[in-house]
Amino acid sequence: MIYLLSGPPGSGKGTQSDMLVQSMQFKKLSTGDALRAAAKMGTEVGRQAEALMARGELVPDFVLFEIVKAALRDFGTARVVLDGYPRTQQQAHDLETLQAEFPVAMFILLRIGDREIVARIAGRRVCSQCQAVYHVQSRPPRQAGVCDACGAALEQRSDDMDEKIARRLQVYRKETEPLLDFYAQRQLLREIDAAQAEGAVFVRLQALIGEGGDA
Ligand code: AMP
Repeated sequence: MIYLLSGPPGSGKGTQSDMLVQSMQFKKLSTGDALRAAAKMGTEVGRQAEALMARGELVPDFVLFEIVKAALRDFGTARVVLDGYPRTQQQAHDLETLQAEFPVAMFILLRIGDREIVARIAGRRVCSQCQAVYHVQSRPPRQAGVCDACGAALEQRSDDMDEKIARRLQVYRKETEPLLDFYAQRQLLREIDAAQAEGAVFVRLQALIGEGGDA
């Protein structure tokens, strides 16, 4: 079963999907992390993706579909959380072609207002090695600028800089928000108020997954 975790940038998709991995034995694919890893490795796909990501634009649907198919086949029958996929109607249709093999259990929207998003993203810091996520105010590392988990340097994602946030939000509204109707029509849409503390969001997330009868 596949659980889709969606929401605007900064809504907490990464944090919540990590918590599913840690406490509910989920397998996780973050398409953003996969693209950043490809960029770091300097692959052809990675280089092309890097330029688009730096501008806050989406990477082409067919690239994402290849990444997602490969990961799902790799994960086998485990419960899977997709963090940040699908993000366009075409991606939702692509995923639906795999329905027989990889059925979608629910599409969970982490709902949050624009002002909160900007505050969260501007303070976000990410480990340059293990991708652990921190926030300068709400989730600071023990030592400033250093990852608690692996000791590597923390950095700000280039697409987390102020001027890029507005574009990513615009892209989200135009390309990703229409998916709410798509999944509502299929009775798969669920929502969580993501302005709550991350622990409260996770309690709600676990409850939703439990209601799905697949916990
Ligand atoms: P994220 O880490 O989820 O915020 O994603 C960072 C960036 O990766 C996005 O702004 C896009 O440029 C790219 N990206 C991640 N997931 C997708 C997707 N499903 N479709 C297209 N581009 C994506």
